[in-house]
Amino acid sequence: MKNWNPNSWRDLPIVQQPEYPDQAQLKQVEKQLNSAPPLVFAEETRSLFKNLADVCEGKAFLLQGGDCAESFSDFSAANIRDTFKTILQMAVVLTYGGKCPVVKIARMAGQYAKPRSSDYETIDGKSLPSYRGDIVNSFEFTEAARIPDPNRLMTAYHHSAATLNLLRAFAQGGLADLHQVNRWNMSFVAANPLKDKFQQLADRIQDALQFMEVCGIDSSVAPSLKETSLYTSHEALLLGYEEALTRRDHLTGDWYDCSSHFVWIGERTRQLDHAHIEFFRGIKNPIGVKVGPGMKPDELIKLIDALNPENVPGRLTLITRMGADILPEKLPALVRKVQEEGRKVIWSSDPMHGNTEKATTGYKTRSFNNILREISQFFAVHKSEGSYAGGVHLEMTGQHVTECTGGAYGLSDEDLAQRYRTQCDPRLNADQVLELGFLVADLLKD
Ligand code: PEP
Ligand code: MN
Repeated sequence: MKNWNPNSWRDLPIVQQPEYPDQAQLKQVEKQLNSAPPLVFAEETRSLFKNLADVCEGKAFLLQGGDCAESFSDFSAANIRDTFKTILQMAVVLTYGGKCPVVKIARMAGQYAKPRSSDYETIDGKSLPSYRGDIVNSFEFTEAARIPDPNRLMTAYHHSAATLNLLRAFAQGGLADLHQVNRWNMSFVAANPLKDKFQQLADRIQDALQFMEVCGIDSSVAPSLKETSLYTSHEALLLGYEEALTRRDHLTGDWYDCSSHFVWIGERTRQLDHAHIEFFRGIKNPIGVKVGPGMKPDELIKLIDALNPENVPGRLTLITRMGADILPEKLPALVRKVQEEGRKVIWSSDPMHGNTEKATTGYKTRSFNNILREISQFFAVHKSEGSYAGGVHLEMTGQHVTECTGGAYGLSDEDLAQRYRTQCDPRLNADQVLELGFLVADLLKD
């Protein structure tokens, strides 16, 4: 890679970075991170790359999901297990409904840094620096808590390592058994108010599994019935942290960001001449970039060419986050341009970030209806443009939180107070995720 090295981004403008009061301490922590073991290995990242090349070619579907922001206080085996289970359950429904393999990427094991729309937060007339994710400062609304602390980089690294360790164990150690996953789905369906709508698909999956069993197709001949691959991802916002975990692969000589398998650039840090584009162009991981409603077709081609100059399928995922009302107006021109110019990208829909609103009860929320509407329109646009709707990107949890309104249980603005737990954006709860799974399976089938 010409004129690139893991720290060449340092010469360029950068936004959304914390202002650490003690630079010497920051340097010292970054040095320590740089000598710590990598969190993921280049070979795993290469297999994700291959899976994503299949998505790019329309042969698989991408499901990416997890918390808006992981937090140190919610760090527990139960939380990790429940998010893992929910992603798997949705993936089974999509695989069967859509008749294609599903590539699963969790927003986990590193999703600790948050870009903010304002540098300050004001509550009851008092202004303090914004919370920027547990890797930077603390959520508590006090002056001391909001001071960026470099030691948090190390804590985030250790939390990510432990999360990955458990995810790997779950993926290989029985929790991913398809029979079990579908049993969970059967109980979800049985209890759901929309039971009649979902029962048929759940029954068909159950029948297919039983049929295979009768034919002697079990995990001894088909390990994929019992094991799965779940990859990790996060927004690579803090480039000092990412640089420290970027390593040269001995086999190929290429540089990989070993903080996670997949990393993406947020909507607020994708300026063409800024540091994030520079850092990302040199790493070999599959990468994503968020694309909001302000994107123009020519600018998008420039962005694609900066990040994937060799037009390699699987390298680049465009994660569109337009808002349900705006998408039909903005997305077609972008898709058309990319088609005309022959750029190979994965199109994935983030139906969360363009649909954030304030509930009458004051909570930051999103409505299930708008989320579903954005996804449906995303599919419709790709269909009419002759392009492939390759994936969805969700903010979700396996917990029974009340953060997004609507869904089969009809959560209202008043219900949000019951279990509103997020420190950042509102997430779909376990029931809402699965419901969405059944509905998106229908779209995939068409
Ligand atoms: C996010 O994914 O949590 C996020 C901040 O998204 P965006 O960059 O699209 O606003
Ligand atoms: Mn978010």
